[in-house]
Amino acid sequence: MASLRTFLESLTEEETLRFEEPLELDYTPTALALELEKEQKFPLLWFEKPNGFDMPVVANIFADRDRIAHIAGAPDAAGFNETWLQAESQPIPPRLVESGPVQEVIFTGEEVDVQTLPISRHFQADAGRYIGSGILICKDPDTGVRNLSYQRLQLKGKDRFGASLHSRGHIWDHLIRSRKKGKNLEVAVVIGAHPAIYLAAAAKVAMEVDELDIAGGLLGKPVDLVKCRTIDIEVPAEAEIVIEGELLADESEEEGPYGEYTGYSTYRSTRNVFVVKAVTRREKPIYLDIIPGNSSEHLLLGRCAKEAHVFERLREVVPDVKAINYPKSGTHFHAYISLQKRAEGQARHAIMLLFGLDSYLKLVIAVDEDIDIYNEEDILWAVATRFQADSDLFVVPKVFCNRLDPSAVDGMSAKLGIDATLPPDFEAERIALPPEALERARSALAKLRA
Ligand code: MN
Repeated sequence: MASLRTFLESLTEEETLRFEEPLELDYTPTALALELEKEQKFPLLWFEKPNGFDMPVVANIFADRDRIAHIAGAPDAAGFNETWLQAESQPIPPRLVESGPVQEVIFTGEEVDVQTLPISRHFQADAGRYIGSGILICKDPDTGVRNLSYQRLQLKGKDRFGASLHSRGHIWDHLIRSRKKGKNLEVAVVIGAHPAIYLAAAAKVAMEVDELDIAGGLLGKPVDLVKCRTIDIEVPAEAEIVIEGELLADESEEEGPYGEYTGYSTYRSTRNVFVVKAVTRREKPIYLDIIPGNSSEHLLLGRCAKEAHVFERLREVVPDVKAINYPKSGTHFHAYISLQKRAEGQARHAIMLLFGLDSYLKLVIAVDEDIDIYNEEDILWAVATRFQADSDLFVVPKVFCNRLDPSAVDGMSAKLGIDATLPPDFEAERIALPPEALERARSALAKLRA
């Protein structure tokens, strides 16, 4: 069994903040997650009785690197990349089964009312209640290859959502080709499944790859699928809730604004319409919410698979790259890399490669191996003491970028590379303490605190 609930059972009590009393749902998960982030705390949030709804809501599951490692089956956060790459290279295709708990309760036709789902408002300027945690499953209209992706869905009525197919990924391409055939695009929206399926859905992989194969690779076994009731799509049998429907080929309407990963409310939208044909769910489902905007959860979910993927491509060409980090502060636009430099110009080489591999990036800082790339003070210390602006930076103007960057001009932005690695003739010696002195200090502190 690979379900959301089996995963939730594997979490410790300390990892979960459970609210047993009724609580207003609008804005509450977002506000709680962001308040806790300020204290550097990233617990799973569990709302047993959201006001006005008859099912619990869980959120913030992806807010923590250690929990993401646990989801992927990696030994720890540092081991995530390797675990991910193994799943990518040894995918396990899903298998079709006869029935599953996701179809314990079925609503079709007049019985459909998605307004009864605990769909929350997340940020003040949002146009309404939004599903940001739905995995949209569709199929390539020509090849039939499945695609999993996230697209925001604005609740518009009992059987209608506005959608923005932002970043124009594979689903956008599928819809364009469906339209040419004069057809709507069938889509199933999955809410609540084993979080490994959520990680796989966030991966940016080739159009020919079914993200569910990677989910199988992570889980070490095939994901069981059942056929939808009203469309030709298969969904995880162990999911909590599935909304079956169609993206309309020939209709568009207002959608947004919505709080995006940049930390801004965005009015950009592809203005699509999603019409619901059926809702299937478990008898007692759990609704999974994802904290949107530039929350730890949203940014981590969006980038952990990308980090692993990009790191591997980088290392193929520059084997001395040791680590990569997309810091939360850079909201997908900044990355730090560390390398064991063997020749001058190697850091620039790695930086240029990285810009080529990820069009979102605007700033890459390269540092030596002794710098902790997860510690931004350490990064800035390296910039302060190992970098000269007249010789150690380069700018590439007018490169294709992500359109949600509010400072981009005509879909293009400049790329800034900063080489903060030591020059070969560097004179200064980094101050240090004898290891036994550090050990003494640590045990003295531990005694004091015991
Ligand atoms: Mn795809």
